Amino acid sequence: MDINAVKTNAKLVAEEWKEQVTERQQRTELQEDDYNQLKSINIPLLGVPQEFGGLWQDLQSTGSSICEILRILASGDPSVALSSTMHQGVLSPWRSGKVTEEYREQWNAQKAEVFQTVLEGSWWGTIVSEPGSGGDSGLTKTATKLDSGLKYFMTGKKHFGSGSGRTSYMTTRAVPEGEETPDIFFIKVKDIPWDGSQGIQLDNPWRGRGMRSTNSHAFTFTNFPATRIAWPGHSAELMASNGGLGPVAFTSVITGVVDSAMAHCRENLQKILATSPKLKAFQEVHWTQAEQEYWLINQAMKTTLETLKDGTSDRYNSLMLKEAVANLADSILNRLCKLTGGTAYTWYSPLGGWLEDVRALGFLRPPWALAYEQLFNMSINEQ
Ligand SMILES: Cc1cc2nc3c(=O)[nH]c(=O)nc-3n(C[C@H](O)[C@H](O)[C@H](O)COP(=O)(O)OP(=O)(O)OC[C@H]3O[C@@H](n4cnc5c(N)ncnc54)[C@H](O)[C@@H]3O)c2cc1C
Repeated sequence: MDINAVKTNAKLVAEEWKEQVTERQQRTELQEDDYNQLKSINIPLLGVPQEFGGLWQDLQSTGSSICEILRILASGDPSVALSSTMHQGVLSPWRSGKVTEEYREQWNAQKAEVFQTVLEGSWWGTIVSEPGSGGDSGLTKTATKLDSGLKYFMTGKKHFGSGSGRTSYMTTRAVPEGEETPDIFFIKVKDIPWDGSQGIQLDNPWRGRGMRSTNSHAFTFTNFPATRIAWPGHSAELMASNGGLGPVAFTSVITGVVDSAMAHCRENLQKILATSPKLKAFQEVHWTQAEQEYWLINQAMKTTLETLKDGTSDRYNSLMLKEAVANLADSILNRLCKLTGGTAYTWYSPLGGWLEDVRALGFLRPPWALAYEQLFNMSINEQ
């Protein structure tokens, strides 16, 4: 079992999914079969360190491979790829946390427990976002009551929980009783009904304009059991320790969608040109500009993956990549829809669905306003 085998198998899975694009774009729910297919090619093990039986070596070698694999999978089904991305991301604190001596024993025990759940077949996700927080988890209001040790009960509203129903565990943030700063927690959600009888109430099922089958539902939690991260009070360090992998992983998913859209249009244009001598000037200009923007995305992705590989990746670069690609991908899909004509506006073409899918990137963490605030501050104060 190695990462190259996962990549090869991911290509086969994506090819199969591409054939089903029309039906997949109509879906509004994540299918268990798709997650099982990902499991059969060892996708969940990508985020588990080798010493615990997984495939993760370090950020340099495994981080960039994860991004390449996500890009491949997203070219087949963006919703499945995006929701499974959360799994790799949320395991990062336990992969990289360098905790102080005082906490080492309980940290090592928790780490072993977390990775063991994945080996036993559990998917992880995250439900950090809170309505009205603007994507800033530092503004988390969800409260907790201490039970004992690292065990708490949490109460609060959360939304955008991608993978809900398919995940067994989710990370989140909440304010520990008696403290002011939110910390990282995880919750076991497997087989818990969503009717409020055991502390989880489904407020709104996901109805995304794009990424329609990510199951990113909204819930209210009431006195729901939650386990605090075993290195309390260090959430900022732990969240930063993934070296900017999160935004690059999200961007890889969207780039996979652009790959499929460009290939789809190129094939259509070649077919048209085989029988008619010329396209309209409008179509030629928009295609060529889409190509320019696609070239920029590919250059930016390549450079960013190189920085992950050589250990020079940083927050500024990965965030700039995410925001730049959010704009470029949106522009490309708009151009492809316009040059294709009216069919692109219907469900008979995949382009309109992909347009909505790529728009997700700007809303993913950190969403537009927060991302631009952070970029502005970094550009003025740190560059
Ligand atoms: C496809 C997808 C999947 C996601 N998956 C996950 C996930 O798995 N886990 C997770 O934790 N998060 C997930 N997210 C959430 C994401 O990370 C952001 O947290 C999310 O987009 C919420 O941030 P927000 O600023 O858009 O919304 P909010 O936190 O609701 O903030 C909205 C902001 O807009 C303001 N506002 C609201 N309405 C108006 C109005 N009418 N006029 C003016 N201002 C207004 C509010 O005051 C607030 O500042 C996902 C997002 C997407 C798009």
